[in-house]
Amino acid sequence: MRIIFFGPPGSGKGTQADRMSKRYNLHHLSTGLLLREEIQKNSELGKRIRKIVESGHLVDDAIVNEEVFSKVKEYDRFLLDGYPRNLIQAEDLDDYLEEEKKPLSGAIFITIPDTEVIERLSGRLTCSRCGFTGKQPMYHSGDACIRCGTALIERNDDRTEVIEQRLVHYHDLTKHLEKYYNDRLLIIDGMGTVDQVTLRLEEALSIWE
Ligand SMILES: [Zn+2]
Repeated sequence: MRIIFFGPPGSGKGTQADRMSKRYNLHHLSTGLLLREEIQKNSELGKRIRKIVESGHLVDDAIVNEEVFSKVKEYDRFLLDGYPRNLIQAEDLDDYLEEEKKPLSGAIFITIPDTEVIERLSGRLTCSRCGFTGKQPMYHSGDACIRCGTALIERNDDRTEVIEQRLVHYHDLTKHLEKYYNDRLLIIDGMGTVDQVTLRLEEALSIWE
């Protein structure tokens, strides 16, 4: 099984991607993580990536492709998370996988309504040390984290205006990708509890096991 995984912010995509990787023995490839690892290695490529990231730009298609393909080459079963980010990357990925004779099984899209995304993410306070999150009004900005005591902060990403902006970008991206993946696309309802969504995914993915 070789799949790509999509979901709006707040959809629980990361958690579900993690669970599906374990359940189906897939190598979980997260582009964000791969790029961070490359930066940490301080390789030539890593230095280039660091420069781009620090200047606030998006890492370009060629670099991301290079990074993803070098990993994809190593594994027969994988789940790609955070990639492709645009149509060009999607086409490049298909071309590459065709060369490698490892075609994609399909694309998973977890969907939840925008109102739910905003509801889930806004007013969220995060501990920058251990990752604990709590919501206002139960917690306040500056409260001590219940796990490690660090002051909780509202991340810029969790402000309503920023969430709305991210959603615009997200829909802009996925409307093209939905069309592109067309008959290879599985849409999963992301509403309900984490376990309910996991069950839906397990059932849907079993067709490719
Ligand atoms: Zn903490």
